[in-house]
Amino acid sequence: NKMIKIGIVGYGNLGKGVEMAISQNTDMELTAVFTRRSPESINSKATVYNLSEIENFKGLIDVMILCGGSSKDLPEQVIQISKHFHTVDSFDTHAKIPAYFDEVNRSSTENKTLSLISTGWDPGLFSMARLLGQCVLPQGEDYTFWGKGLSQGHSDAVRRVVGVKNGVQYTIPLEDALEQVRSGSNPKLETAEKHQRICYIVAEEGADIVEIETTIKTMPHYFAEYQTTVHFISEEELLKNHSKMPHGGIVFRSGTSASGSKQKIEFSLELESNPEFTSSVLVAYARAISKMSKEGQIGAKTVFDIPLGYLSPKSAEELRATLL
Ligand code: NAP
Repeated sequence: NKMIKIGIVGYGNLGKGVEMAISQNTDMELTAVFTRRSPESINSKATVYNLSEIENFKGLIDVMILCGGSSKDLPEQVIQISKHFHTVDSFDTHAKIPAYFDEVNRSSTENKTLSLISTGWDPGLFSMARLLGQCVLPQGEDYTFWGKGLSQGHSDAVRRVVGVKNGVQYTIPLEDALEQVRSGSNPKLETAEKHQRICYIVAEEGADIVEIETTIKTMPHYFAEYQTTVHFISEEELLKNHSKMPHGGIVFRSGTSASGSKQKIEFSLELESNPEFTSSVLVAYARAISKMSKEGQIGAKTVFDIPLGYLSPKSAEELRATLL
């Protein structure tokens, strides 16, 4: 049986997404799901175990896909789990990636395992688009726009405002900033000059909605620097129209070749479900990690270190014949 055997650690949005993504890949099978909660409480088609039992699966699982949260779960879980298994994760706190890499690299090198950190779409596919752009067009500017997308952090922030019962926040690229970039004029743009923020709020009964709007719009770091719009809606409308987790964005490299010719690269994602897409990326990279581990590679890696062909179930010969 040459199937790649996968374990899922943590069954939130990404964990569920990984289970779905594996079902679309015929060379992989889901061996087990591990959770810190009681296994009976988890509604998965796979067999679910408590995380404390994970070591019993040594030798039975090729790659563990870590689906915990970036802030608390992953830094702790990756060190424990990479002692015994090859791992893939989506750690996305950009500023902390170098320190995270060092720690994982130390642990996985010591234990002769292989760990891919920080894959997904950003970090992940967007990181690759930025790198490719810079290498091909050394003279130029990078731009990353995010959205239209639901931002978890900003939605949490509006929900903490007094008088707010429920709410969501979308980050949306500003059209004229996009136009300036597409024109090749290479403008200098701060994050707040590239994006607007739109909030849909359900207020508590009797709450002061003027006060809520002011509190949101003047919230430092989150909203104050941005063009922010606040809409008040009913709870039914929120559940009906704002329960999905869309996201996406565009990475540009806008440069010139030596004669002055304008050259532009645009890589864009429109995702109806952020976690389902991120999970699909995690699964493709689990295949690469399975192959590289069989070659004897160890330590921590990022998407920059993985040959693209390793993501594919097809052979190198087949890829040359059909895609090159
Ligand atoms: P999530 O749904 O909050 O799940 C995180 C963990 O919380 C799960 O692994 C689960 O662990 C626990 N959990 C989930 N539902 C629970 C519940 N009802 N009760 C108690 N515990 C529960 O987070 P997510 O949406 O999957 O995202 C995970 C991380 O992925 C995020 O922190 C983000 O940083 C990262 N991410 C990265 C990218 C990228 O492009 N690189 C994109 C999207 C997300 P247990 O099963 O062990 O309880």
